[in-house]
Amino acid sequence: MKIVNYEVIVLNVPEDDPLANMPEERGRTRPVVALKLRTDDGIEGIGITFYGGRLTATLKKAVEELAEMTIGEDPAMIEHIAKKFRSSTGDPFGSSGIFTLAHSAIDIALWDIKGKSVNMPLWKLLGGYRKQVPTYASGSLRRGLTDDQAQEAAATLISKGFREMKTQMALPGAPSPKDEIRRIQVIRDVIGPEIKLMCDINQLWRPEQAIDIGKKAEGVDLFWLEDVTRADDYDGLARVTAALNTPIAGGEYLYGTVPFHHMIQKHSVDIVMVDIIRVGGVSQWMKVAAMAEAANLPIVSHVMPEILGHVVAACPNGLTVEYMPWMLELYQETPEIEDGYLQLTEKPGLGLQFEEKALATFAA
Ligand SMILES: [Mg+2]
Repeated sequence: MKIVNYEVIVLNVPEDDPLANMPEERGRTRPVVALKLRTDDGIEGIGITFYGGRLTATLKKAVEELAEMTIGEDPAMIEHIAKKFRSSTGDPFGSSGIFTLAHSAIDIALWDIKGKSVNMPLWKLLGGYRKQVPTYASGSLRRGLTDDQAQEAAATLISKGFREMKTQMALPGAPSPKDEIRRIQVIRDVIGPEIKLMCDINQLWRPEQAIDIGKKAEGVDLFWLEDVTRADDYDGLARVTAALNTPIAGGEYLYGTVPFHHMIQKHSVDIVMVDIIRVGGVSQWMKVAAMAEAANLPIVSHVMPEILGHVVAACPNGLTVEYMPWMLELYQETPEIEDGYLQLTEKPGLGLQFEEKALATFAA
């Protein structure tokens, strides 16, 4: 089997909130680069990448240039193709920036092809630990909402059957620690004590602030506090992790696998979060999962549950899947949720097919 052609398109995908219909800003879109990679025996692999922002045209070009190098290659030789990419750019590690973002789209498509070629869903091919995984609602309880809107959104998520959900602190303006705690408390008041509530800070606090507010938040019983300070401040994160009873999650901003080695060595987090696009695709995500398992740490996903469900379900240390619905509209069918668990597909590869009408609608 050989790769024979490819297609790369840019899409402007709406950042709606279909879970609770509470977007921070209606009409906001996110540029996404979608890849179709095809083989000589008619298999098509799907790849996705983003985080290009205003450099999205550059990211598209990078995906095309890497895809061109796969023509004639055996798609099953994923690490060989990765080596070819790294050699071609003069970077033996290739672990950052546009290169990695572009490489991830190809790596995801190659794994999709591999799954389809052996007629096996990816979660089984990668390890096959369980066919359903806990999942949490994400993107509805944002910091820009009022307390009333956050309560209304939380009630909607409960009515839809979610057992886990994520909100945010580091509220806009100049909130006092008391304001921050009030926000998570009003959500807890609506959802009751049994629902798992995560909280993302998106790197907006200093370590000392995280320790202060984090201690005050302990009464609200958070399942985790995420990205409490700069992702590359491994020592600062370690101070927060040591000081708080609430587990600290982090890692979605890191590029490549090596920073995770340093983060884990420094005991910077209790829960390792890996972004499949920044880490370098399925191949690198699974390497970090193994690193975390060896360190006795759980691993969690970042966005795109339709793809990340596979890697979390493949790993014994997979904890939960972020159900961030940004890109679900791109596909004909995506995994269902039953009793708070994401149900993995039995279809081969990613089990996803682009909805061509959606691609046409969102085409940039
Ligand atoms: Mg986050």
